[in-house]
Amino acid sequence: MVKTVDQLSDSLGGLEGKRVLVRSDLNVPLDGSTITDDGRVRASVPTIADLMRRGAKVIVAAHLGRPTGAPEAKYSLAPVATRLGELLDAPVTAATDTVGASATAAVDAMGNGAVLVLENVRFNPGETSKDDAERGAFADQLAALADAFVSDGFGVVHRKQASVYDVAQRLPHAAGGLVLAEVEVLRRLTEDPERPYAVVLGGSKVSDKLGVIDNLLAKADRLLIGGGMVFTFLKAQGHEVGKSLLESDQLEVVRRYLDQAERSGVDIVLPTDVVVAPELSADAAATVVGVDAMPPDQIGLDIGPESGAAFAAALPDAKTVFWNGPMGVFEFAPFAAGTKAVAQALADSDGFSVIGGGDSAAAVRQLGFSDDAFGHISTGGGASLEYLEGKSLPGIDVLED
Ligand code: ADP
Ligand code: MG
Repeated sequence: MVKTVDQLSDSLGGLEGKRVLVRSDLNVPLDGSTITDDGRVRASVPTIADLMRRGAKVIVAAHLGRPTGAPEAKYSLAPVATRLGELLDAPVTAATDTVGASATAAVDAMGNGAVLVLENVRFNPGETSKDDAERGAFADQLAALADAFVSDGFGVVHRKQASVYDVAQRLPHAAGGLVLAEVEVLRRLTEDPERPYAVVLGGSKVSDKLGVIDNLLAKADRLLIGGGMVFTFLKAQGHEVGKSLLESDQLEVVRRYLDQAERSGVDIVLPTDVVVAPELSADAAATVVGVDAMPPDQIGLDIGPESGAAFAAALPDAKTVFWNGPMGVFEFAPFAAGTKAVAQALADSDGFSVIGGGDSAAAVRQLGFSDDAFGHISTGGGASLEYLEGKSLPGIDVLED
C-alpha cells in the first residue's frame, strides 16, 4: 500500500515541526531566467501548501534541465524558487547547494511551515548514477536533512534516481496528491477504459513511442497518428515523404502495427493531406498537398486542414481519449493548425481526455487553451508513457510498504 500524506502524518504523530523532504517536478522550460510554461510549478503547489498548513518544514528537492553532475548557472533552480514563492504567496528560501553547507544551514534556520528549495539535485553526480552505492551515498545526505519524504514529482517516478527512489528507502514516506492523481488517471486509461477509446499520437519520433503503440493497439478502438512520426507510417504505406522526418529502420515495425490494427479491428486514422514547406521557419512558404503528392524537396510539418477536420470528427463520440505528441511543429504558426484542431475537438467533447507529454501540454497552453478544457493534463511525459507501456515505475513501487 502507498501511504497518503494524511496516513504518513498519522504514523508520525503529526507533521508539525517535522522536516519533510518533497521531491517535486519543477523542470520547466526557461528562456534565460524567464519561465515560459510554469505548469509544473503550479501542479506542485497543492502538496507543498498542504505540508505548510500542517506546520512541516518543507524542503523541496527538484531538478532542472540536464546538467551533467556539476553546478551550471543556467540550470539553477533560483528563478523557479521565486516563481514558487509567488504562487504560494509565501516566502521561499533557495539554497545555493543541494546537501552542502548552504542547504544544511538553511534547513537549520527553518521555522514551522517554512519552505526551502534545494539547488538542482542533478548538480550532484550521485543523483542519476547507475551505481547503487554512489546513488545511495547521495541519498544518505539528502535523507539526513529530513524526517520524512513525500514523492510528488510524477514526471520523474519512472527514474531510479537518488531523490526519487533511494531516498524513499531511507525515510518514512508517502505519495503526494499529484502523484496519486496522475496514477489514478493512468489507471482509468488502462483498466477498463470507457469506450469508444481513442488514442492520438504525434510528436517527433516513432521510435520514442513504439512501446506505447504496442500496448495501446490492444486496448484502443481508434488510433489517430500525426506529427513527425506519421511519415514513417505514410512511407510504410508506399507514399513518398520528401524530406520529412523518416525513420527507415522502423518501417518494418510500423508495417506490423498496421497489420495488427487491421486484424484486431482498431481503426487507424492517418492524414490524407499535409502542410509542407521547403524549410522549417516561422515565415516558410507553406502549402497543402495530398499525401500522395509530397514534393521530394519539401518537409511535412503539419497534418493538413482536411486531415485536421477528419481527426476532429473522429473524437467527439469517444468516451476516453489519450493524446501524446503534437500533430505538427506547433512552435511555428504555419504548422500549428493540426494540433489546434485536435485540442479544440477535445475541449468541446464531454469524454474524458488526457494529455500526456511535455511538448503536448506546452502546445495546448501556447495555443490558448485553459487546463480546465481537458480532463487531465499530465505533468509527466516519459512517466505516463512508461506506465501506458505496461512498465512498472520504480518511484511508485518503492513507496509500497
Ligand atoms: P511530447 O513532449 O508531448 O511527448 P514529443 O517530444 O514526442 O512530444 O514531440 C514534440 C515535438 O515534435 C515538437 O517539438 C514538435 O515540433 C515536433 N514535431 C511535430 N510534428 C513534427 C513534424 N512533422 N516534423 C518534425 N517535428 C515535428
Ligand atoms: Mg517532448
